[in-house]
Amino acid sequence: MARVHISPLNLANYNDLQELLHNYGNILDFTLKEHSAYVLFERESDAIKAIEDSQNGHPSLGSSTCTLIRNDEKALPSRSPLGLDLNKKNKMIEAARTLLEGLGEDVRREGLLKTPERMVEALLYFTRGYTQTPSDVVNGAMFHEEHEDMIIVKDIDLYSMCEHHVVPFFGKAHVAYVPDKKVLGLSKVARIVEIYSRRLQIQERLTKNIAAAVMDTIEPRGVAVVVESRHLCMVMRGVQKTQSVTTTSAMLGIFQDGKLRTEFFSLIK
Ligand SMILES: [Zn+2]
Repeated sequence: MARVHISPLNLANYNDLQELLHNYGNILDFTLKEHSAYVLFERESDAIKAIEDSQNGHPSLGSSTCTLIRNDEKALPSRSPLGLDLNKKNKMIEAARTLLEGLGEDVRREGLLKTPERMVEALLYFTRGYTQTPSDVVNGAMFHEEHEDMIIVKDIDLYSMCEHHVVPFFGKAHVAYVPDKKVLGLSKVARIVEIYSRRLQIQERLTKNIAAAVMDTIEPRGVAVVVESRHLCMVMRGVQKTQSVTTTSAMLGIFQDGKLRTEFFSLIK
């Protein structure tokens, strides 16, 4: 499944548009909003084809922009929130012991006796995002509000682990959205950031995951996410200067418009 957001929607061409989209493949849901539409395609490949055509300027789409919203919640790996079974955990502890021995350590010395177990507990904690979904954490904290201006949550602390080296990267996330009747409790934006950062990640995907989750949860007119972080795998190996920060961004819906995007970037400076 893949959801496509079409904005702004030209109502004069609405019927043409609907017919056009049905040509691409099976549509499971078509939600019309004041300024935009959400189309849920059964197959992601159909959604991508529709988007590619829209970028080439299909007449039925006029000046609309189509954005793909991947339904990450279904596709992402997960772990049972009830915790690991003992057998699996013991295997992990054994593996941690092997790792330490491989480094040349004596795992029987006093300081290391409990380290394999602590390593596993720490790793499980650092990746606890695998046990949560946005709907778990939002849990009804969504409010109906006739608010039409940009809502921005700046400087959300973020700690994640790079999937290439399993070494931390950390920094800040800034999230903005323009609501369409629904707003999120402010702390919930930070909780969504946490779900996706507490996994093995690459910064680009993390940024997109956060934007898509906000889009999926409250279907706003647009979402903007910027992540700034330092990667210890680069800093500690001397690949990068120690102070260098990597910045990534994801813009969905009306944030693809230059003016709003510029306003957002000036607000997070
Ligand atoms: Zn890395």
